[in-house]
Amino acid sequence: MGLLEGKNALVFGLANDKSIAWGITQAFKREGANIGISYAGEILERRVKPLAEKIDCKWVEECDVTKDDQIAAVAEKAAKHFGKIDILVHSIAYAGREELSRPFHETSREGFRVAMDVSVYSFVALTHAFLPLLNPNASVMSMTYHGSVKVAPHYNVMGVAKAALESSTRYLAYDLGAQKIRVNAISAGPIRTLAAAGVGKFRDMYKHFADVAPLRENVTIEDVGNSAVFLASDLSSHITGEVLYVDSGFNIMGVQIGEEAKE
Ligand code: NAD
Repeated sequence: MGLLEGKNALVFGLANDKSIAWGITQAFKREGANIGISYAGEILERRVKPLAEKIDCKWVEECDVTKDDQIAAVAEKAAKHFGKIDILVHSIAYAGREELSRPFHETSREGFRVAMDVSVYSFVALTHAFLPLLNPNASVMSMTYHGSVKVAPHYNVMGVAKAALESSTRYLAYDLGAQKIRVNAISAGPIRTLAAAGVGKFRDMYKHFADVAPLRENVTIEDVGNSAVFLASDLSSHITGEVLYVDSGFNIMGVQIGEEAKE
């Protein structure tokens, strides 16, 4: 029997088969969850629908998370289709490309606002909208990155947004704890996705990571999916408000030296 047998899981943030949300969706499916998928907008529909069909997912709904009416509408549709929800995944982020290439001090007011709205507030708003549908023992999670606590050159406003997302995770965990609902974040190492392509010099960061991480390997969407299964399942009961690193151990390093200097 799968670890998520009989659980209803909603995954927000599927763009294509490179998305972390796809790694999570596939892992949830493997473990027996009933899955619903939400995506940003019409442009993505032709990529997302075939993926949904692959896993026999019948609930595929559009939702731009910057729009309160769309969040309310998607929650209503989920209530009609699923009744109750056990797992809610937020795998969404956005910042303008220019904010992720120029120096951080040049971040525009609007660029800062948009990054925080799409990447942070939407997590709070979704959790709030779905709260009436969440079963006791439900698990809510978001995706973050180590640029929240340490400087990752070019990550800029997204690092600030991830710090706010991790803090929001803790405040939500406190609020929802009384209802025995858990809220956690997964901090993934760099993965080549659409969102990552917007980060200046991502390719260099990706290579450096595998050179210096204790496990000497990049992480995959499958790795994140498997950890998401753990956080979604009853195996992680009593873990809440945490940031779980899935990063080959990269974050433990104080001094980073490349492979050639290790001998
Ligand atoms: P992705 O581009 O596949 O996913 C990002 C998703 O955000 C897309 O599906 C996009 O449509 C969605 N999105 C953007 N604006 C939206 C809006 N207004 N409404 C609804 N959805 C919207 O890239 P990904 O790397 O899979 O990103 C998923 C999450 O993982 C993000 O939070 C990202 O910051 C985080 N993350 C990524 C990495 C990495 O290296 N790829 C590392 C750590 C954390």
